[in-house]
Amino acid sequence: MPTPSPSPYLPFGENKNTSWYGRDIISVKQFQRPDLEYIFGVAHEMRGMVERIGTFNLLKGKILANLFYEPSTRTSSSFTAAMERLGGSVIPINEVRYSSVMKGESLIDTVRTLECYADVIVLRHPETGSAEIAARAARKPIINAGDGIGEHPTQALLDLFTVFEELGVGVVDGLTITMLGDLKYGRTVHSLARLLSLYNVKINYVSPDILRMPRELIEEIAAKGIPQAEYATLDQVLPETDVLYVTRVQKERFENPEEYERVKDSYVITPEVMKAAKQDMIVMHPLPRVNEISVDFDDDPRAAYFRQMEYGLYVRMALLAMVLGKA
Ligand code: ASP
Repeated sequence: MPTPSPSPYLPFGENKNTSWYGRDIISVKQFQRPDLEYIFGVAHEMRGMVERIGTFNLLKGKILANLFYEPSTRTSSSFTAAMERLGGSVIPINEVRYSSVMKGESLIDTVRTLECYADVIVLRHPETGSAEIAARAARKPIINAGDGIGEHPTQALLDLFTVFEELGVGVVDGLTITMLGDLKYGRTVHSLARLLSLYNVKINYVSPDILRMPRELIEEIAAKGIPQAEYATLDQVLPETDVLYVTRVQKERFENPEEYERVKDSYVITPEVMKAAKQDMIVMHPLPRVNEISVDFDDDPRAAYFRQMEYGLYVRMALLAMVLGKA
């Protein structure tokens, strides 16, 4: 991972749009380019602080409730690490099985309970729109950590931050991004495509026919003037790709297991396949991976997916500090 230099982002003073205190983070639709530059500027500072001193007391005394109704490794543990690196603490509810949810408590009641104890709530839930419902009920900020097949805004922010940090701030305009895999159920690609539409990029979608990017989303992005194209195979677009964003086929969203079996190994990224790609491009993946990227590719410098996870820590530190009024 390249070492952070003096911030290449807008100096904070020049960015007017900094009033994130007390706000919910539900959808990437909330962000404009100056917001992103601000968030990434803060994330870049966080990176420098973690590298220099590890843990510091910006959020000392603040409490985060981490409420996860669906499995998570990275999102849940990176929010915990983010809060603890900032000197705050965490109420972890990663197993709703052991909470009053199993007694039939509603999402709204659970959120109202947790906000009595915590200053901010991170929520992952299987239903699209659940984060918005929770945010309407709650007085404290809600951060959407994935609502079914809807959105995963903090993942999209960390994905874009990865592109900035790896390929350079200011180069995003003009890039070709290729999204590969399950574009129908993958919430990370839904959020990322929306966020990228704030820039002058070209987006390619490569997927099996039954897992194509939702039509409404393609139309929403087309209305912003972004060129998009859909393909069934990767070979036509790999040579022009600057960012290859690989996704897992979302087994848990399939009603018919045979259909999953049919498409699950549609694409596999290997060193052989990657011979056709540029040398200065990157391969990203929100993780977890199943078979879609061969471990033989992991040592290639273009494999950015492990670095991407670390960038996620800095972005989540920035978001927590912002909504708690400390950035
Ligand atoms: N971790 C990501 C998510 O929660 C991607 C995935 O599960 O495939 O959406």
